[in-house]
Amino acid sequence: MKRETQLVRTQIPRSENREHSVPLYLTSSYTFDDADQMAAMFNEEQEGYIYSRYSNPNVTEFGEKVAQLEGTEASWVTASGMAAIFSTFGALLEMGDEILSVRSVFGSTHRLFTEIFPKWGIKTNYVAFDELDTWEDAITPETKILYLETPTNPGVDIIDLKAANAIAKKHNLIFIVDNCFATPINQCPVKFGADLVIHSATKYFDGQGRVMGGIILGSHELIHKIQGFARHTGPAISPFNAWVLSKSLETLEIRVERHNSNALEIAKRLESHSQVKSVKYPFLPSHPQYEIAIAQMTGGGGIVTFEIEGGLVRGKAFLNDLKLLSLTANLGDTRSIATHPASTTHSKLTESDRLKVGITEGLIRISVGLENVDDIWADIEQALN
Ligand SMILES: *Cc1c(COP(=O)(O)O)cnc(C)c1O
Repeated sequence: MKRETQLVRTQIPRSENREHSVPLYLTSSYTFDDADQMAAMFNEEQEGYIYSRYSNPNVTEFGEKVAQLEGTEASWVTASGMAAIFSTFGALLEMGDEILSVRSVFGSTHRLFTEIFPKWGIKTNYVAFDELDTWEDAITPETKILYLETPTNPGVDIIDLKAANAIAKKHNLIFIVDNCFATPINQCPVKFGADLVIHSATKYFDGQGRVMGGIILGSHELIHKIQGFARHTGPAISPFNAWVLSKSLETLEIRVERHNSNALEIAKRLESHSQVKSVKYPFLPSHPQYEIAIAQMTGGGGIVTFEIEGGLVRGKAFLNDLKLLSLTANLGDTRSIATHPASTTHSKLTESDRLKVGITEGLIRISVGLENVDDIWADIEQALN
């Protein structure tokens, strides 16, 4: 089946009620026919359901659909994107191991690397996203994982997945990509050699700002290790959230296509506005890594950033003058959202640290939604003016 059909038609077997839409399995545990069957189920290799911290039919269905999309053997679903990221490192690293990561990672991932993992003797070496020739200098015998996001947040910089993978493979590192910004509709990192792919399902998978979720995708072998860690540490997603996410995947492709086309159009209009110093969008030919973007992505995604004339003061004034766009920390929603990273998500960083990850005082990030593009633009334009 083709991708759209898989997304709509993949579902767990129907119950004897022959429901069309999959029911919600709100149960914390499952029953057994007899003592022998129960004993067999506790053998870890056995397929089936025991307890919903381990697995649940709604969770299985959501995980299978995303594995099909990303082209991986297996998946493990968690309660949030951060639960997926923490479980992955927790399962794969030992005390004394090191992580090689690109500096511009999601804020909470940065906190894991700099504040939480050091408690267990796990160190992170940061490298610049566009200086791949320096990455090997940051690899030591203890380095076990290469971790990155592309497009990055909030800079929408693009990292060359094929070149990054070559470095990872040469040094025997597990190559992990947080693919949240692109979604598997626009980019499948496994095709470029990634060993594991991680998503915050809270963003485009739900796409309607309702539930939280996360997922890790990869080979049976790696996912089995993560599963062993996650089953006993408890980052399980609620069946309800998994059910919502699985239903949302039915419309993922058409939503992402519209996010892509609306965002490209907004990026083009911003580029020709006099109050805008610069615009960054992966599929604009002016993007510094445009060639890499079109080689590894099939769409530019829904996130556009731009630099407003006048810095911090004008950046805040722009947000205050918006009438349609929401001021909220989420992204990937049907509703367009504007944020000003320097005064919000990245306000705790010093100015020089902000600049290292490309956050200038006048940087605005727009998560372009599914409203009519002329309405989105009218709001942005009146606020700029
Ligand atoms: C939101 C986000 C996360 C964390 O996901 P949660 O579901 O909020 O825990 C991780 N990576 C990226 C790129 C994100 O945007």
